[in-house]
Amino acid sequence: MVTLAAVVGALTLLAVLNPLRQPDDADLGQRSESGARFVEAEADAGDRPEASATPSNVPSTPPADTLPGAADTLPGATRTDALPPVVDHGPRRGNKVALTFDADMTDAMRRHLRGGAVTSYANLKLIDRLERDGIPATFFLTGMWVEQYPKVTRRLAANPRFELANHTYGHHAFTADCYGLPRIDRRKMTADVARTFDLVSAYGGRQTRYFRFPGLCHDRAALTALAPLGLTVVDGDVVSGDPFATAWQPIVRAVLDQVRPGSVIVLHVTEANAPMTDEALPHILAGLAERGLEPALLSEVLGTGQAGAGSREPDRTDLPDA
Ligand SMILES: [Zn+2]
Repeated sequence: MVTLAAVVGALTLLAVLNPLRQPDDADLGQRSESGARFVEAEADAGDRPEASATPSNVPSTPPADTLPGAADTLPGATRTDALPPVVDHGPRRGNKVALTFDADMTDAMRRHLRGGAVTSYANLKLIDRLERDGIPATFFLTGMWVEQYPKVTRRLAANPRFELANHTYGHHAFTADCYGLPRIDRRKMTADVARTFDLVSAYGGRQTRYFRFPGLCHDRAALTALAPLGLTVVDGDVVSGDPFATAWQPIVRAVLDQVRPGSVIVLHVTEANAPMTDEALPHILAGLAERGLEPALLSEVLGTGQAGAGSREPDRTDLPDA
């Protein structure tokens, strides 16, 4: 797991700390035409029939007393008086695998959007393809990404094949040493993640209590802080390496070399910070099909009562099936 975390963390670090690096600038120049299409597509996103089915005036925060009662029956919900389970993958039987897409957003990324250095951190081509082919997928959303892309969030929530999960509010580090990510104060961890559940749950659709730490960095203190929220921590066992990729082939190779039944595949929907993911997707899907593997929702791959599969936390063995 050190290697997995190191890879994800290093890439996350690049994404957060180095948004103006040369490859980005070169990439923006090469893809300016497609960037313009993304802007148009984003404007269209809210007009799609599936998106219009959801309320347009989504509140930023639902009433606090509506969350706990509903939350404890959602996929990934766990008891609140023990450390949350940490899961890498589902049972190694059957043929299901989970495609998961992180939607990072940081203060620095938002500055680059507002300053015009970046066109979009929402990969609409990727979402288009998932929707066109009817592919199940699970999205780990940061609260800031949801605030930046409310129309896209409505579109994701309106698709019954898409599940929504939590990736913190502003993608801060939850441990002391998480590859240089700005660190969140321990006393603010619970509220940060609760706030993000509130933001995401306001959109309806397939809500979950799945959560992924930025850089996959967590320790006992971080898990303790999140225990009251009754969630499941999902790391993943297949890191695609899609952030800042300059070609789709290495992403496809990384996924297909590692994937097995029950795998949880970590990808990104962040467009400018993961510009090859949409091009890699059809090749990943083809490779999965060749191997007899089938994309499924994360909740299906982990399975009800199967949160223990792939767990690395001894504390969770006393947890009931949930
Ligand atoms: Zn992330």
